[in-house]
Amino acid sequence: MKLDNMFKKTKYSTLKRNEYRTETVRPEVPEGLLRKCNKCGAAIIAEDVKKDGYICPKCGGYFRMHAYRRIEFVTDERTFEEWDKGLGTKNPLEYKGYLEKLSGLQEKTGLDEAVITGKAKIDGVETVIGVCDGRFLMASMGEAVGEKITRAVERATKEHLPVILFACSGGARMQEGITSLMQMVKTSAALKRHSDAGLLYISILTDPTTGGVTASFAMLGDIILAEPKALIGFAGPRVIEQTIGQKLPKGFQRSEFLLEHGFIDGIIERSELRQTLSKLLKLHADSGYEAEKIQDILKITKKSDAYKAEAMKTDGTRGGLSSWERVLLSRMQDRPVGSDYIERLFTDFTEFHGDRLFKDDRAIIGGVARFHGIPVTVVAQAKGTNTKENIERNFGMPSPEGYRKALRLMKQAEKFGRPVICFVDTPGAFCGLEAEERGQGEAIARNIYEMSDLKVPVLSVIIGEGGSGGALAMATADEVWMLENSVYSILSPEGFASILWKDSSKAKEAAEVMKLTAKDLYKLGIVEKVFDEPQDFKAENLIQVTESMESEIVRFLAEYMTKSHQELSSHRYMRFRRM
Ligand SMILES: [Zn+2]
Repeated sequence: MKLDNMFKKTKYSTLKRNEYRTETVRPEVPEGLLRKCNKCGAAIIAEDVKKDGYICPKCGGYFRMHAYRRIEFVTDERTFEEWDKGLGTKNPLEYKGYLEKLSGLQEKTGLDEAVITGKAKIDGVETVIGVCDGRFLMASMGEAVGEKITRAVERATKEHLPVILFACSGGARMQEGITSLMQMVKTSAALKRHSDAGLLYISILTDPTTGGVTASFAMLGDIILAEPKALIGFAGPRVIEQTIGQKLPKGFQRSEFLLEHGFIDGIIERSELRQTLSKLLKLHADSGYEAEKIQDILKITKKSDAYKAEAMKTDGTRGGLSSWERVLLSRMQDRPVGSDYIERLFTDFTEFHGDRLFKDDRAIIGGVARFHGIPVTVVAQAKGTNTKENIERNFGMPSPEGYRKALRLMKQAEKFGRPVICFVDTPGAFCGLEAEERGQGEAIARNIYEMSDLKVPVLSVIIGEGGSGGALAMATADEVWMLENSVYSILSPEGFASILWKDSSKAKEAAEVMKLTAKDLYKLGIVEKVFDEPQDFKAENLIQVTESMESEIVRFLAEYMTKSHQELSSHRYMRFRRM
């Protein structure tokens, strides 16, 4: 399993390996000036820990952060306005000694309950924020916690604000019984309304986030981030071990495990937290441009390049290469890959991981970025740039979870009114046992189905191999473009020859009859645009392609972002209907 290696690679490798048992680790900063790190045992100065965002300066371990410190840490100075302070529980079970216990905790921690909510600014952007505090009954969710979060989300919906919640919880609060369980619905239902209003919710999971909180508000973010090595899971590790009578593997239910299994978008270091939240808030605050504004921005920024676009050749007639030669060029090892295009064409790219179902498929990269300042969603089928990367990315052959990640990100783009730009480069969808078990066909079908009516502009560019349904699952678009030596076909020429002529060695002949080159497909009306390639096409001379592609994307966005949902939908429908 790769997880073990991942642990070795991190700078926290000195941590003890029994950390998946929360019971054995209490990563609180002890009192006093000189403290002892409970992860590495080193003596550390309390002031240093505070200054560094409550991270051990010796081993890099994360200490739990108090709620008010967390708010100070991520928001602009003096902008936090606390809401619903003093809201308490009605003690629904009339549980003996419970209220006394709470007042004791209130005195000890200075908190009224296990969550602090309110409104603040991050880098000038207003947001609703809620932070759980583990010192208060392990931040378990009773009715006061549920009510405070629900009220904060409802008010965010009313005031049209994003929500950021820092989760940390032992789960439901036993002393409140079934009432505690109902908080899972209250918080989730409020978030559903917030989402339906087109608003952004970022969930940040900190150590530990378990039980009813993971089964409600914590896992419902448009974007879910986690702090490194946080314990995140529904059932606690001790309960699982007792139930199955086995030891759990190292790293089980840690952030890194969740990332690999597709449940979180990313792991975020504390040092990057504020900056990342600022970037994401701004990207979403700028979404949903008005139509006229878009055209103005694009006209102003790209006037000069529009001329170049007109002068560009569009039929891929250059070169006089045979179809088979182009097939070979499309497969060249050093041909630019998806990530090269993302780097050249966009700024502020933030990768999001996972399908929220099973896994993060590295054969597809996706996330948000800006194109000339405009927020866009970018999804690319990803081959590697060397053998090691190619193995990690499964040679650009996505599994069902890859297509499901792509679709998740496209639906997210739709929610926030962002155009979608796809880069297609795959020999085909991964052909294997596991891919079939998880529904490769269903995943591709679902993408085509949903993309056909996605309510934002969709552009697909075939940059290398456009292999069959695996390519189409990311090419059901308003316009499809190709590079001069990219190919797009029903299957590989080898497969074609093998099926029709029972002889895969006739691939070369097959390539000539399949009409798979950019030139052929342009003539057939399958693609709208073909881009010339420089001789000896590599990442180093990619700019010769991206320059003209950039001005064409400007033209595309100006044209399609001004269309209504209805116009977009019917245009896309007719584009394929005529074929
Ligand atoms: Zn330490």
